[in-house]
Amino acid sequence: MDIAAEAPRRTSVLIVGGGPVGLAMGLLLDRFGIDAVIVEKSPTTTDHPKSRGCWVRTMEIFRQWGIEQAIRDRGLQDESDMFVQVESIAGREISRSRPEPNLGQTPAWKCLVAQDAVEEEIYRVIEHSNLVQVQFSTEFVGFEEVEDGVICEIRSIETGRSEHWHARYLLACDGAGSQTRRAAGIDMVGPACLSVLQNEYWRADLSRFPLAREAAGYQVYSKTPGVPPRAGILNTNGRDRWLSIIQIGEQKDDRPRPWTDAEMIEIIRAHVGVPDLEVTLLNRSVWRMSKQVAASFRKSHVFLVGDAAHRFPPTGGFGLNSGVQDAHNLAWKLVYVLRGWASEKLLNSYDLERRPVGQSNADFSFGNMIRFRRIDEAVRSGNEDHIRFWVNDLDNHLHSIGQALGFTYEEGAVIPDGTPHGGHLTRVYRPSDRPGGRFPHMWLDMPRKRSTLDWFDKEFTVVAGPQGEAWLEAGRNVSAKTGLQLNLQQLPHAHPADGIQMGPRGAVLVRPDGHVAWRMPYIPSDPARELAGALETVLH
Ligand SMILES: Cc1cc2nc3c(=O)[nH]c(=O)nc-3n(C[C@H](O)[C@H](O)[C@H](O)COP(=O)(O)OP(=O)(O)OC[C@H]3O[C@@H](n4cnc5c(N)ncnc54)[C@H](O)[C@@H]3O)c2cc1C
Repeated sequence: MDIAAEAPRRTSVLIVGGGPVGLAMGLLLDRFGIDAVIVEKSPTTTDHPKSRGCWVRTMEIFRQWGIEQAIRDRGLQDESDMFVQVESIAGREISRSRPEPNLGQTPAWKCLVAQDAVEEEIYRVIEHSNLVQVQFSTEFVGFEEVEDGVICEIRSIETGRSEHWHARYLLACDGAGSQTRRAAGIDMVGPACLSVLQNEYWRADLSRFPLAREAAGYQVYSKTPGVPPRAGILNTNGRDRWLSIIQIGEQKDDRPRPWTDAEMIEIIRAHVGVPDLEVTLLNRSVWRMSKQVAASFRKSHVFLVGDAAHRFPPTGGFGLNSGVQDAHNLAWKLVYVLRGWASEKLLNSYDLERRPVGQSNADFSFGNMIRFRRIDEAVRSGNEDHIRFWVNDLDNHLHSIGQALGFTYEEGAVIPDGTPHGGHLTRVYRPSDRPGGRFPHMWLDMPRKRSTLDWFDKEFTVVAGPQGEAWLEAGRNVSAKTGLQLNLQQLPHAHPADGIQMGPRGAVLVRPDGHVAWRMPYIPSDPARELAGALETVLH
């Protein structure tokens, strides 16, 4: 790329891609008061919803942003987080998995909601922002590193006109095929192609079938000759928008030729089980299922976020969820560095913290993909015991609160206190105030409106035990000395059963993203010095 002769326009952060992750990143920077430009090559937010599951950590983040209810209002009914195995949607039900029980460990239970609704609700918050501009129909062309950032070229798809922007940081939120990642020279590690699939997004009113409201997805085992014997149909709004997913090859599209629209409609009719169903095809995509994580999430001023950093099988529903949480992890760090409150070193913790989580989610999703294949074999066998075993095992796919909430950062912007990491079970979440984990949720009032999680937003928070007033005093001193605003909170009680192990006179320092940075289970001789030391270690 040639650096433009005229002076480039300036922004703190340039975000490539206005998918769910780029938009989430923009919303976060806007909340923190940082200017940014998002370039999105499509003319609007997505018209091809893939994701339909926002898991608890993502819903907790949406709660913080004030959009939880708006998103929930557009989701499927409660307890629809299950798959139903059918011969067709109108036909025989073979079996079904069970919804995940809500044990009250979060103020924001998961929600089955389609990606187009999620993107629209996030965009609704930032479209009037004075700080973050979203430029649709604009493609990112390339960038050059300069000493204090990057110079990027972007081009209007409508007019072909190019512009140059100087940004301190460039965020690649441009999805699985990320051109920005390739331009930065970062490789993906892991198998690039596990299978080739076609997504077909279509409209047909299925609201007369009770099943259409009840489940997140259908695994169709069709007996109709001439149509694919196996397909997934994902429920996007419980009424009339559906996404069929059909495997069309192992390493490449193995069909003699792509299906015509008329053939596709016949396939959908057979899978629904209504021969004269009125179907409108909306759009389609052909994609490769991969299990890959980038070799590094950062190179100089460039950060990979979302699918640009990791792409894994959709089985498990962790793509969008991981990406929103990547953004939540990175945003406050960028802000602290841009404001001069932390040194550049803090930004290295993004890769150290998020890459292992990306790998763990890739492994979990891959395991679910294998489980799906076993269910296929069981259903084909027709053996009831064989089917029951694998459908029961399917609970391990969607009952994933341990995977969604139990991850911890063992290295990065955290100070380990020597307690060993017990590992996490994908189905079980054990709350803990151990450094690296998300601080536990507890309701703070009888009507169950205020959660401990509401304490964490833009500042570091000192959470003291019920007899830990000395920590609050220490927090005031540190704030006054460093000029860094600290949020000071005290727990009403400290029960280990709630995951509060700090004890009555202990304290933790919680980062703006709600993860514990440091813990001390007693009052030392100089609590202000200990607290200041912890902040210094985390930020510099
Ligand atoms: C069938 C299926 C089901 C899924 N279900 C779930 C689920 O239940 N839960 C879940 O969490 N995840 C799920 N996922 C994964 C989820 O859809 C993705 O992880 C998510 O879309 C990633 O968001 P992103 O913003 O990182 O990337 P994308 O959604 O791919 O967005 C990237 C954006 O960048 C834009 N872009 C690309 N290149 C450029 C350029 N050069 N210039 C400008 N703009 C550019 C693109 O137009 C696009 O809008 C599913 C995926 C599939 C395929």
